[in-house]
Amino acid sequence: MSYCELCGHQTFEKKMVVVDGTVFNVCIACSKRGKPYTSPQIAVKKKKPFAAKKPQKKIGLADETILTPNFARLIRETRMKMGLTHEQLGMKMNEKAQILKKFETGSLKPDEIFAKKLERYLGIKLYVSANSDEE
Ligand SMILES: [Zn+2]
Repeated sequence: MSYCELCGHQTFEKKMVVVDGTVFNVCIACSKRGKPYTSPQIAVKKKKPFAAKKPQKKIGLADETILTPNFARLIRETRMKMGLTHEQLGMKMNEKAQILKKFETGSLKPDEIFAKKLERYLGIKLYVSANSDEE
């Protein structure tokens, strides 16, 4: 048994409502006076996946890109060509060397944001057209 925060009456079932921007636990009768409360977690918009502003060269299905299957080798080879250690590259990118190592062994896949970052720092292309036949 608990009490309604609006009318003060005892109530078995309580509802959360918003009245004048404040959340109250109220009885069913009082719940009609406010808007149903929705938790902020639901209200908050989900983070949009990273959408790169790329020039629209091609229009259509060919625009779909995927992480290249040989990203591990590509990252490793490019980094070595640049004469950088994991630590040095990590520092440049403000990322952990440990993560870079994982990418290079293929035990971890960079997410899109990280992949774009790698592309920028290494000057490589990690995202390839999903329709391409390369490897
Ligand atoms: Zn009430």
